[in-house]
Amino acid sequence: MANEKIPYKIYLNESEMPKQWYNMRADMKTKPAPLLNPGTGKPMTAEELSVVFCKDLVEQELDNDTKYFDIPDEILSFYKMYRPSPLVRAYCLEEKLQTPAKIYYKFEGNNTSGSHKLNSAIAQAYYAKKQGLKGVTTETGAGQWGTALSMACAYLNLDCKVFMVKCSYEQKPFRREVMRTYGASVTPSPSMETEVGKRINAAHPGTTGSLGCAISEAVEVATKSEGYRYVLGSVLNQVLLHQSVIGLETKAAMDKYGIKPDLIIGCAGGGSNLGGLIAPFMGEKLRGEADYRFIAVEPASCPSFTRGVYAYDFCDTGMVCPLAKMYTLGSDFIPSPNHAGGLRFHGMSSTLSELYHEGLMEARAVNQTDVFEAAEYFARVEGILPAPESSHAIRVALDEAIRCRETGEEKTILFGLTGTGYFDLVAYQKYHDGTMTDYIPTDEELAQYRAKLPKV
Ligand SMILES: *Cc1c(COP(=O)(O)O)cnc(C)c1O
Repeated sequence: MANEKIPYKIYLNESEMPKQWYNMRADMKTKPAPLLNPGTGKPMTAEELSVVFCKDLVEQELDNDTKYFDIPDEILSFYKMYRPSPLVRAYCLEEKLQTPAKIYYKFEGNNTSGSHKLNSAIAQAYYAKKQGLKGVTTETGAGQWGTALSMACAYLNLDCKVFMVKCSYEQKPFRREVMRTYGASVTPSPSMETEVGKRINAAHPGTTGSLGCAISEAVEVATKSEGYRYVLGSVLNQVLLHQSVIGLETKAAMDKYGIKPDLIIGCAGGGSNLGGLIAPFMGEKLRGEADYRFIAVEPASCPSFTRGVYAYDFCDTGMVCPLAKMYTLGSDFIPSPNHAGGLRFHGMSSTLSELYHEGLMEARAVNQTDVFEAAEYFARVEGILPAPESSHAIRVALDEAIRCRETGEEKTILFGLTGTGYFDLVAYQKYHDGTMTDYIPTDEELAQYRAKLPKV
């Protein structure tokens, strides 16, 4: 089919949808560094992790060798409600940009939660249910993860307790109400319901919270409540595994038409959508079967890859979670309040960190006003209102397509369009009103947080 005209949207048939997740770690020569117990400094055992996480998910987390995991039938059925997601050939964008580049994007925003996070939420809720648990706890920042998890829990009849970063809880009441519609309880964090929340509130009166605080609270509630475990929407190996469905579908759709991307671009918060999108392509690269360029795009105001260090660090502010080796800015780092574009986690997936460290992947940091400029341009040309997070990838895809126009190169560019931006209109408003600013932390600021990294 290589010469057939490529449609605007490539959908797989149900029968062509992936039935297994792919574990990139199995093909890595150097495996991502293990999670460490902060008390002993030793790798976390399955037993220790099982206090916090569901049993099957712990196995997936620690498994660096199994290449493929069967997707359980119940999860496949759920996926069929909103997958396959379209792989779009951005003909309109190519025309508008007058670029010889061929641009594709994989659109993950076609579900009520509005993002790719549902791919892992349903998997994590499924394994919690299978274990016979009553419910799960989690944190949410902007709210996409909490929304996805509450949808998955409603489907499986599981209780869902969400700690929502206080400033988002107040600024994004509509997100909160979506979660409550699906039956989740939503608590602003830091709360007075946990020991760690009380401690953080006492140390920082009036704080509007952070993702790191909310994680500490959710973990505390999970470990202290009978029949509950904690689930996390990004960063962990298991989440990248579930998100590989994005890349596997993309690869299957491209193979059908004989398309090979030269450049694969994704935004990076904790690394789950990017890790999922690149997985099968990176697998080929790791096995020496093909070559691709991969670019992680992050906000200049939270530059974990481009300005962080590769070191063991806490994933949360309360320091109750295991230590992960990753590119990090330090667990106390909170992006400046004017930052509206998401992707505000201080660290990064250990798997992607190792790949970046080995030079198998590149990273770029972009300013938020440039990100919103790209978002608006994209919305006007391709019609979709993109999430600010996704628009980081759009920015770099546009830059690369413009570069192709200048050099005449006919590159094939693929990027991940992770979600829609309907709940981010306050940020869009700031951009339109001209009140959005850029903030780039100074080297001195970053050094302060780096100095507080745990000594391992
Ligand atoms: C959460 C989110 C991201 C960032 O998370 P990753 O784990 O880095 O993928 C990106 N885009 C959208 C729409 C999100 O909701």
